Amino acid sequence: MNYNKKTVKDIDVSGKKVLLRCDFNVPQDKTTGAITDDKRIRAALPTIQYLLDQGAAVIACSHLGKPKGEVKPELSLKPVSVRLSELLGKPVIMAGDVVGPDAKAKAAALKPGQIMLLENTRFEKGETKNDPALAKAMADMAEIYVSDAFGAVHRAHASTAGVADYLPAVSGFLIQKELEIIGGALANPKRPLVAILGGSKVSSKIGVINNLLEIADTIIIGGGMAYTFSAAQGGKVGDSLLEADWMDYSKEMVEKAAAKGVKLLLPVDTVCADKFAPDANSQVVKAGEIPDGWQGLDIGPETVALYCAAVQDAGTVIWNGPMGVFEFPAFAKGTEAVAEALSRTNAITIIGGGDSAAAVQQLGYADKMTHISTGGGASLEFMEGKELPGVACLLDA
Ligand code: ADP
Ligand code: MG
Repeated sequence: MNYNKKTVKDIDVSGKKVLLRCDFNVPQDKTTGAITDDKRIRAALPTIQYLLDQGAAVIACSHLGKPKGEVKPELSLKPVSVRLSELLGKPVIMAGDVVGPDAKAKAAALKPGQIMLLENTRFEKGETKNDPALAKAMADMAEIYVSDAFGAVHRAHASTAGVADYLPAVSGFLIQKELEIIGGALANPKRPLVAILGGSKVSSKIGVINNLLEIADTIIIGGGMAYTFSAAQGGKVGDSLLEADWMDYSKEMVEKAAAKGVKLLLPVDTVCADKFAPDANSQVVKAGEIPDGWQGLDIGPETVALYCAAVQDAGTVIWNGPMGVFEFPAFAKGTEAVAEALSRTNAITIIGGGDSAAAVQQLGYADKMTHISTGGGASLEFMEGKELPGVACLLDA
């Protein structure tokens, strides 16, 4: 996939109607509907502000939740328009539909420097089916398409990809940064490239492991997936997370890494617990020697030292998947130590994956990383080397 795409700076948007796809899929309080975290709205501000400053008329759109093609009032984007208006310090005109008479009339009347928001794109059945008729109806309201919804680029939907068939399509600043940093690390990394892979399951990371094994110099394995690797080598893993169906695969990966000269590091010790709970009793044991009735919930201190040393002289570090159950403070030490080690390196440090981003934020290292991807699923598919429909549809630079 070509990561070098035209951005809003490469085209003249002044006086033009711009359809801007944002990721306003914000978390909401289940009972009151109040937005509990407006990070995604804030993240869209630089592109919106730039477009408005250039004298564009901005028709913003996004999905929210999963209304499945039906109008669900509790999934209206109205609260987002209110918050966006507060953050911008100017009115945001809210449309009552996506491509219906109200949206069309408001879009037609929109003046340069003004912004409106369409209703939840998933109120339309054609959105997730990438229906060309819906894409064209959205495109007909505008003259240029700008995508800044990195969190949705792995989906080929009408508003994330289909519209680009009808309008010149460029990226906003959020997508541009993701492409520059993650794309750069995959295509032409500053070496040595160290990939840290953890999280719960091997099975959810196959694509990432396969792809990074082709390009990384060192691969570090932690988290729950490490026990499948350990078991595949004859280790005792007690009640730890184990995917028996993926033991052969794990073995093959170790062999493949050796054959390619990629350094693959596995835990040498583990912090295990007598139950899956924050207040569990714990003990440190050697990898592959977890007693019956115990489960590994974090990497051990010797592993921490080994992994921290391995990232010290890295040129680039790509990290996906926590080293342990960081949600329990007693088992967050491995993840925290690795985050701390990354904060001390001169490497380009990239965090991808929803839980990994949450872990780094929760532990207080977010501002020490080069880049924390704004797309959970999208960043995973990016690291798998897959083509992202919402990026592929943009004009090449
Ligand atoms: P990401 O969202 O960053 O891609 P994953 O979803 O793959 O990451 O994994 C995150 C989850 O993995 C966390 O909720 C964490 O508690 C869990 N996890 C990490 N280590 C273990 C372990 N040893 N046992 C069970 N769960 C683990
Ligand atoms: Mg996750």
